[in-house]
Parts: sequence; C-alpha cells; structure tokens
Amino acid sequence: MNRISHWIDGSVVEGSSGRSGMVFNPATGEQAASVDFASVAEVDAAVAAAKAAFPEWRATGLGRRAEVMFHLRELIDANRKEIASLLTAEHGKVLSDALGEVARGLENVEFACGIAHLLKGGYSEQAASSVDVYSIRQPLGVVAGITPFNFPAMVPMWMFANALACGNTFVLKPSEKDPSASLLMAELLATAGLPGGCFNVVQGDKVAVDRLLEHPDVQAVSFVGSTPIARYIYETGTRNGKRVQALGGAKNHMLVLPDADLDMAADAAVSAGYGSAGERCMAISVVLAVDTIADELVAKIAERIPAVKVGPGNEPDNEMGPLITGEHRDKVAGYVEGASEEGATVVVDGRDGAPSEGFFLMPTLLDHVQPGSKAYDDEIFGPVLSVTRVGSYDEGLELINSNPYGNGTAIFTRDGGAARQFQWDVAVGMVGVNVPIPVPVSYYSFGGWKSSLFGDTHMYGPEGINFYTRGKVVTSRWPDPHTSRVDLGFPETR
Ligand code: NAD
Repeated sequence: MNRISHWIDGSVVEGSSGRSGMVFNPATGEQAASVDFASVAEVDAAVAAAKAAFPEWRATGLGRRAEVMFHLRELIDANRKEIASLLTAEHGKVLSDALGEVARGLENVEFACGIAHLLKGGYSEQAASSVDVYSIRQPLGVVAGITPFNFPAMVPMWMFANALACGNTFVLKPSEKDPSASLLMAELLATAGLPGGCFNVVQGDKVAVDRLLEHPDVQAVSFVGSTPIARYIYETGTRNGKRVQALGGAKNHMLVLPDADLDMAADAAVSAGYGSAGERCMAISVVLAVDTIADELVAKIAERIPAVKVGPGNEPDNEMGPLITGEHRDKVAGYVEGASEEGATVVVDGRDGAPSEGFFLMPTLLDHVQPGSKAYDDEIFGPVLSVTRVGSYDEGLELINSNPYGNGTAIFTRDGGAARQFQWDVAVGMVGVNVPIPVPVSYYSFGGWKSSLFGDTHMYGPEGINFYTRGKVVTSRWPDPHTSRVDLGFPETR
C-alpha cells in the first residue's frame, strides 16, 4: 500500500504518530494509499524548519526570488500531466478538468514572478524640510495554508506562490483526502531552487490544524474549506493573534432573465452545475429562472444531461467523474430524496444509471425547488442542479441577497443595463455576466462576501500580496550634522 508522508526541511519525513487516514481511488471505491497524520511534535518540526529558513530567504534578493518562481513556472508547465494524473487518481475529477485546475493554479505562480514590481513602495521627497518619507512592505515570517479536497493543486498555489515570493516561509496542511499533489509541488519547489525549510507539508487532520492555529511562531493562516471550519479557523487564529483569511462554502445562483440566449444559458448551467461533479465552490447550484422562460429553460437543460459522459476521470472522453467519498455521494443522493419530499420535481434523477463501482452519482436536475427546503438552503456540493422559479429580476435578486453565502453568482441576459444594475445591486463577491464560473484571473483577487469569507483580505492577486506582507513607513532626515539642534516641539511639516 502506497504511503503518503510529510515534507519537512527539504525532504520526505515519514510520520511517527501512529495515526493515518485512507486515500481512495474514487473511480473504483478502493483504498489506494494511506496518509500519515501529523502529531503536534511533527507540526512543531515543520514550523521550526520554516522559522530557521526565514532569515536567509527573507534576505534573498527579489531577483533571485523571482528567478525561483520562473523556474517553478517552467517545472509545473512541464509536469502538467503528471500533476493532473495525481489529481484524477485521488480526487476523481476528469483529466481535462484536472489540467484546467493546474493551469489556473499556475497563473498564480506567473503572477508571483512579477514580485519585484508588486513589492514596490511609495516615496515622497521633501515631505518637510530635508525630510523624505517612503513605504516598504516586509514579509511576516512563517505562514500556514490549510486547504480543501476539491482543488488539491490550485488552492495551495493560490497561497504559497505569493507567500514565498514575498519572502515568507510556508507550512501547508493539505486535505487528507487527496494529499499527493502537495508532495509533488514540494519536490518541484526544491528543484526550482527554493532552499530547504522554506516550504513544508504536514499531512493530517484537526490535530495538525489546531497546532498551527496556536503555534506562537505561525504569523498568519490562509484557509479554504467549508463555512463551519472557516469560521472556527478565523475565530481561533485571530484569538491567538494571527492574521487570518478563511474562505468558506457557497450557494451560487445563476439568474436567467427572459431576454437571455436560452441555449447559451442551458449550456452554462450544465457546465457549471456538473463540472467536477459539482464539487466546486464556484459551481452553479441554483438556476433562478424567470417564470416566462422557466419551462423552456428546464427542458433545454434536461435535454443536454444525457449527453454528459460520466465515468472514471482517467478515460479521456469522460466529462464528469465520481464524488470524493462514498459517504459524500450518499449524502448528496439524500438531497434528491429529500427534495421530492419537500415538493420539488425530480426532472432527472442521478441515482439511476451510475457506474456500479466507485463513488458515482449521475447529473441530477430538480425543478420547483423552494427556498426553505434543504435542497435550496444547504451547500450540496455534488452534481445536483436546482431550478427555482421567480416572478421577476427583483425577486431573484432578493433571493440571492438574502442568502447567507455570497461567493459567486451570474446573470444571463442580453440587456447591458440589467447586467450593470445586477453588478451594482448584488451582495456577492464574484459576479459573472453571461459567465457562469467567474473565478477572477490571478491579477485580481478571489473572495466571497458574508459566510463565504471570514477576514478582510481576499485571496491571491494584489490582496494576497498585502496579506503576506506588513507595511512600514520610514520618515528620514539627512541634514548637515552642524544644523542639528534640540527641539521639543511636535514635528510639523510646514
Ligand atoms: P473542509 O472544511 O471539510 O476541510 C478543509 C480543511 O480543513 C482540510 O484541510 C481539513 O483537513 C480541515 N478540517 C476539516 N475539519 C476540521 C476541523 N474540525 N478542525 C480543523 N480542521 C479541519 O472542506 P472540504 O470538504 O475539504 O472542501 C469542501 C468545502 O470547501 C466546500 O464547502 C467548498 O465550498 C469549500 N471551498 C471553498 C472555496 C472558496 O474559495 N471559498 C474553494 C474551494 C472549496
């Protein structure tokens, strides 16, 4: 049985806690590996390695730090397929989707290649007589990343590329469900020239997370995962004096106005609802269809579903793979049962026709899903698309804005004025106009509103640079020494 361990101070370190978890191949349902779970002492060793590496890495010139990122960029590019295969093997997503994940993660490494430009401060000459003022941004020290199962390569790249380029050292605690990609990225970082100790991986569960949250040498924590855990991470980390950004779950609505191109809207709903088996925080979960076009739109979505090719992710033609575990598949299937009990119509029932082995559920379409029912209220995180019918734009907007989550949303319309009004009105962090999955490019920042993000800073892009650095302002005077005198007055600039 393949054993997946930690990466501490530049090499693989086998766990000695005696605790481990199972890693499955979701396409077969078989256990494929075991993953070591870190003890407190093992987390402490990783943090100690990161702390020891910090002074030298911080002092490494910007040109050299950028060079390491450029090398990493080339290595990830050259190893796209290998990384994607690992994602498919442990997560289950189809290869084309896994390659997309690597590409979107790589964007963040490319952004970090520009670190010299990103860390420029401001300078004001002669703010007062012979006084100049300038601002600089300095790294924090050891920072930690805690990541979810659904993007085992991209989400760590959201974090460590900018964190390292800014001069921090990093401890990653990946999801225990698909931990291998983190070790491959550690190897690539080492090959790219990152000194040992700058990037460490501790595999594990709550024990490792809690130790990172309380460790006095961890300065900041980036988290991506479900809302209850995000809230816990934010509250615990900030109580312990750390800087925290904690991104949580989602319930993303797509509002389809009567003037929309309904074929385009149906294509988008199917792509964004069932891509990655719905296990994306930016997946469309609810289609809000204005009454007059609802029947036609539901029919167009339903007619596309049989064409979605479902099967093992490593078979090239497949478009949708299995769910992450059997337990999760059963939970998602339970929503289909529950929805019909709560008055929804099951238009396409994904419990029928799934491959017999593995954690599969076929694409499911629910209509007439009512706010207040579990299928509407909960983040299902599976291939279940709900249609909720609304009388107007205002009614749809009200549903989106009263939802506790605010990660992503999309409007489908041909009316530019309506789209602009939506952008103005909607209480959601990432908005698509005829774009169903509006994940920002790496030179903007990613983050939701309300229960989808705890903390003030969105992830990656310019806000990521701010998160991983502290500002400092220097006020300096260079007078001739003989002009110096004692002056107890408060310094004025005029
Ligand atoms: P999760 O919250 O169960 O786990 C995330 C991380 O937290 C993992 O590393 C896990 O080991 C750790 N963890 C789990 N339980 C813990 C506990 N009790 N104490 C301390 N640590 C704990 O999330 P998941 O199931 O891996 O991922 C799916 C969730 O992530 C969904 O809710 C999805 O919407 C969300 N997500 C959000 C974004 C975003 O950007 N907002 C992106 C991806 C995923």
